[in-house]
Amino acid sequence: MQLSDLEPKDVWERFLELCAVPRPSHHEQAVSALLADRARARGFDVRVDEALNLVIRKSASPGRENAPGIILQAHLDMVPQAASDSGHNFLADPIRPRVDPKDPAWVIATGTTLGADDGMGVAMALAVLEDESLEHGPLECLFTTNEEDGMDGARAVLPGTLQGRILLNLDGEDDTEFTIGCAGSIRTTATLSRAASSVPDATLWVEATTAGLLGGHSGVDIDKGRANATLTLARLLKSTGVPLYLRSLEGGTAANAIPREARALVGVEPGRFDDLAKAFKAAAATIHHELGARDPGFSATLTRLDEGSVAGGNALDAVASVSLLDTLISLPNGLIQMEPDMPGHIRTSLNLGTLRAGVTDGVFEASTLVMVRSSSDAEKERLAVTVEKTLQTAQNAGWAVSQSRLSETPAWTPNTDSELLKTALTVYHELTGEEPKVVSTHGGLETGLFRPVFPHWDMLSLGPTIRYPHSPDERVEIASVARSYRFVRELVSRLSGF
Ligand SMILES: [Zn+2]
Repeated sequence: MQLSDLEPKDVWERFLELCAVPRPSHHEQAVSALLADRARARGFDVRVDEALNLVIRKSASPGRENAPGIILQAHLDMVPQAASDSGHNFLADPIRPRVDPKDPAWVIATGTTLGADDGMGVAMALAVLEDESLEHGPLECLFTTNEEDGMDGARAVLPGTLQGRILLNLDGEDDTEFTIGCAGSIRTTATLSRAASSVPDATLWVEATTAGLLGGHSGVDIDKGRANATLTLARLLKSTGVPLYLRSLEGGTAANAIPREARALVGVEPGRFDDLAKAFKAAAATIHHELGARDPGFSATLTRLDEGSVAGGNALDAVASVSLLDTLISLPNGLIQMEPDMPGHIRTSLNLGTLRAGVTDGVFEASTLVMVRSSSDAEKERLAVTVEKTLQTAQNAGWAVSQSRLSETPAWTPNTDSELLKTALTVYHELTGEEPKVVSTHGGLETGLFRPVFPHWDMLSLGPTIRYPHSPDERVEIASVARSYRFVRELVSRLSGF
């Protein structure tokens, strides 16, 4: 099978044209200009905003002027990931798609991400727009920029720029799925600080670690009962009951990743080391047993360091050490609630993504980064406030506490009564004889950002089947492109009164 033979041609030809134009996130000028020129040449109304978002407008077919306006939305940018040996220059080189020689049901790129996420969405929207044989109400295409690295385009879409009230987001990754909701998020950070104390000369220094955990994405993996390496280490140290001088405690790499490893440096009186080692080992065994198959690789180590290997004798005193561990342990973390109306879907969760704590210039400082997610804005806010209040209680133990919110995105709360959803389910059933999965994602989507700005929009997210997006293994299933496009075309027609 050649690329030029793939059906539907209307979609694949446009996708292959997009592949020729470099369009990594933050570099959408060329593709935005190309699509604007192309639309103007066809006589469509074109607007480009400051964020380089593109709105292309096509009038209704005669007699369909009063049908509800439909917005076909997709993002212009793609994630630039190349295999280590590829030498691909994402600012200059075209993506080179091909039918996978090992599995000809799929199209892949040569050594890079394919950009079907979301080039296929753009191609399908253009194909609908340019299809002279399709009768429809007022149609708009909204092509956004930089979805993959901050959703800047979606954030910049202003009220009044679009007339439609039905939005089809074509950024889905499974053609048997309709997405009707997504989580909003709050990233909140706190810094707890106080003067460090000098520890007794004879103090023995010990390194404690947790490792081997599965971790994962704090959106999609938070319901799997996996351990948070940082909180587990705090719990282990506290449970020993042995007075400790905490010198540092660190874990995690990002707000949206469940920490897999953590490490602490603690001082202990030489006479208490054996007690510490014994209690630590016992507590680790309990946690290992508790986690079981949910996180089977868990390990914890306690290592006595050589004398003189820790410079300077500053750390938290024993009471302050306990107060910090207590504050961390009392933070809510992980899965909070599932969707009551959608079995198997996560509604609310949070993740202590990173902790950096240690002594600098005589001051002990602990910085936390927590990400709260919920498909309910009210629950998201309540949980963020709970986190902030919990951290604030450290004040009572003598800590100076400062907090701030780094970012906040709105939720797209699922509406199972949506008229758009009902029509989409009917059309899907007529075309396939089957029911799609109706899902809400615990990750973020551009539709979440649209929700508060365009509260009257009825929205649905869908698209062809894409596997391994954001990696050089990204692939799109050829047959799913045809199915997804046929569905979108039919849905547009039906929503326009046909
Ligand atoms: Zn995407």
